[in-house]
Amino acid sequence: MFKRLDVRSKNQIGLYIHIPFCKQKCYYCDFPSYPYMEEYWGAYTEALVSELVLKAEEYNGPDIGTIFIGGGTPSLIPSEYISRILETVYKHYKVSRDCEATIESNPGTLTDEKLKQYKESGINRLSIGLQACQDDILEKLGRIHTFKDFTFTLNLAQKHGFVDINADIIFGIPNQTLAQWKDTVSKVITFELTHISCYSMKIEEDTVFGRLKSAGQLEEIEDELDRDMYHYAADAFYKAGFYQYEISNFSKPHFRCRHNMNYWERGEYIGTGAGAHSFIRNRRFANTADVPEYIKGIREKKPVLSEDNCLSVDDGIKESMILGLRLKEGIDLAKLSRELGVDLENKYHKKLNKLLSQNLVEREGSVLRLTSKGMDLANMVWIEFI
Ligand code: SF4
Repeated sequence: MFKRLDVRSKNQIGLYIHIPFCKQKCYYCDFPSYPYMEEYWGAYTEALVSELVLKAEEYNGPDIGTIFIGGGTPSLIPSEYISRILETVYKHYKVSRDCEATIESNPGTLTDEKLKQYKESGINRLSIGLQACQDDILEKLGRIHTFKDFTFTLNLAQKHGFVDINADIIFGIPNQTLAQWKDTVSKVITFELTHISCYSMKIEEDTVFGRLKSAGQLEEIEDELDRDMYHYAADAFYKAGFYQYEISNFSKPHFRCRHNMNYWERGEYIGTGAGAHSFIRNRRFANTADVPEYIKGIREKKPVLSEDNCLSVDDGIKESMILGLRLKEGIDLAKLSRELGVDLENKYHKKLNKLLSQNLVEREGSVLRLTSKGMDLANMVWIEFI
């Protein structure tokens, strides 16, 4: 297995490119993604290309250190569109030579031709949405694939030379048993993966699951079972050589996702596409998630923003605390105080003492990090900094 550098340079920024199309909508999904809309794929790609050119002109900053093509299901659309998007990036931005370039995919949507073209376009990291290893659970989630489709896709990607591969899995699914979850975890660690993202399911209102829950037809699993699942996975991943570097993310040495590290370290990033968020020069802004509105706005050179906020110093401090504490390594209060120009020990004196006495955080010199209990009850920690 090749080694790579997964330490993010502070002088680089991230570029996020959103492809909002999926084969069908999963029953738990509240991301900005839409089933098929094939008639928009071409026009959407052209709008993305225009937005990328426009943002390159507006943003004359550090090199792009990471590219993340997320969705939706970016692997659903023809790979020529992905190549066209990436050609635009390389032409109009300064892209670092060691750029981490990820594409998200779903089993059943990748082919030899697509993977070949991704490689040629500079993509060096693949993220595959697996979610579970039991076909009946996948069906209940509204997923488009079977477990066999996943193994087929993984083998195909490896055949094309992809090494840095992530699998997304999810636990706390209504009616999921601990035995089923253990089966998923034990299968996942047998694959040649460099990264595993492991999320606890939250039932969101505007989803099929959310509506079933409101109608009293679906129940979330007990918190205790949810935590047992989390601990089981964290332990199994550790034994299999995966380092937990964030609440929900585990990687083999040197394979942390640099793009996401940039989010948690409050680095800058440019977001393009419908619903994409950007964080540039202390300003957070987002495009409309409405695809036709996004295409029309870009074509007519009109603003397509749905949110635009300039952050105050206090907002920045809160974000740094909440995002930084997601990382297993925690935050260095002395270093962060210098960067932010605020004495954080002093500012949060009482709150830190309270969290320490509750065993939700721990100290090692000036480093503050979540305890194992804090990882379970992270919301109780965040609330102190909101
Ligand atoms: S594939 Fe992902 S983005 Fe698409 S509907 Fe399912 S969960 Fe949402």
